[in-house]
Amino acid sequence: MNILVINAGSSSLKYQLFNMQTREVLAKGLCERIGIDGRIKHTASGREEYIKDILMADHASAIRVVTELLIGRETGVLNSMQEINAVGHRVVHGGEFFSHSVFIDETVLKAIEQCVPLAPLHNPPNLVGIKACQAVMGDIPQVAVFDTAVHQSIPKKAYLYALPYEYYEKYKIRRYGFHGTSVRFVSQRAAELLGKPLDSLKLIVCHMGNGTSVTAMNMGQSFDTSMGFTPLEGVPMGTRSGNIDPTILEFVMQHEGISISDMLSVLNKKSGVLGISGVSSDFRDLHDAAEQGNERARAALEVFAHSVRKTIGGYAAIMGGCDAIVFTAGIGENNCEMREWICRDLGFMGFDFDPSKNNVRCEAFISAKFSRGKLMVVPTNEELVIARDTEVIVTARIKDAFSERRQLDGQPIHPITGGLFRDDL
Ligand code: ADP
Repeated sequence: MNILVINAGSSSLKYQLFNMQTREVLAKGLCERIGIDGRIKHTASGREEYIKDILMADHASAIRVVTELLIGRETGVLNSMQEINAVGHRVVHGGEFFSHSVFIDETVLKAIEQCVPLAPLHNPPNLVGIKACQAVMGDIPQVAVFDTAVHQSIPKKAYLYALPYEYYEKYKIRRYGFHGTSVRFVSQRAAELLGKPLDSLKLIVCHMGNGTSVTAMNMGQSFDTSMGFTPLEGVPMGTRSGNIDPTILEFVMQHEGISISDMLSVLNKKSGVLGISGVSSDFRDLHDAAEQGNERARAALEVFAHSVRKTIGGYAAIMGGCDAIVFTAGIGENNCEMREWICRDLGFMGFDFDPSKNNVRCEAFISAKFSRGKLMVVPTNEELVIARDTEVIVTARIKDAFSERRQLDGQPIHPITGGLFRDDL
């Protein structure tokens, strides 16, 4: 089965084509500046990288460009578009509707639309991506995989804000959490590396990229997570403030004479380590600046490390212990210095950091051999999770449809694909 994974943003579209038999990525790429002019970067196995400015008026034209490249003579890996068997979409917000990935139908589309007020920047482009695939690929089976889904297991005591309860009832204001697809991949892989079932483990997953979240995975289920109603909550990030006292908003708005939307823009785009340092949101720049004596850059890094450590401590307390702390995403996978700042002196919790193992950018244990708790680096792979979920859901539907049809008249003709998947069953 070949599965196309799509991550649609407002003016961009990332894609990866998987061969699920071999788990190989056959091709991947990025369409940018959709609706402005258009530029594509496409790489396919055994082919030269292809970068070109191509007019893409909307997401449907971007999907058309992608499918043409996937079957193109110079750039392609498939003979025809029919060899794409299903599409899996990253969808940011599933609200309280979705605790699992789902097959996309009209009801699902309506529910994703109802979540737009919860993620006004993300869900609309995700929907546009789904509709663009429908427009270009007809009735190809499509699956939605939600960033929020895994966190639907969080108990009420962790997802309720201490606000008037009617806000939860009327507006569904609660903690949702994000990065769920990454957390699923990383925690499952960590359990494999630990040689124990995921549902027997207490893990803390630190997804540290431009957006950073920390999640307590208790016996295979998300138990608490640092991002909240939106991805602005939690630890400080590249440009996002993370937690602050809410009264700061009114104070700053009055003194600076700015509106609430300007204030939120400051919190989302001009705060975090960028705001403190005034240097950059990229941790590499911050380390360089700190080494050259820039005190604000150093303070920004210290605030970040302090906040992640504080969250780790809290999550160990609410789970009643922790078997492993797992680092992933851009900073978690690559930034050895930040890992050291976070991990050193955690011996009192049973985590003995080994600096000699820490100079890695791949799957690794960075705790000392006899450390009771394990410190781990596990590179994330959200696209593979989306492809796997899509494979499982689409295959199950086809099996159901076959057996239903067989019961009716003994003829296994699939109503959705016309038999596209027979070879895979
Ligand atoms: P996003 O949330 O946009 O996916 P990433 O996961 O790519 O972000 O993380 C971006 C951060 O990762 C940046 O702060 C950058 O400094 C850090 N990073 C990425 N690659 C490296 C690297 N090779 N060495 C050190 N830091 C890195």
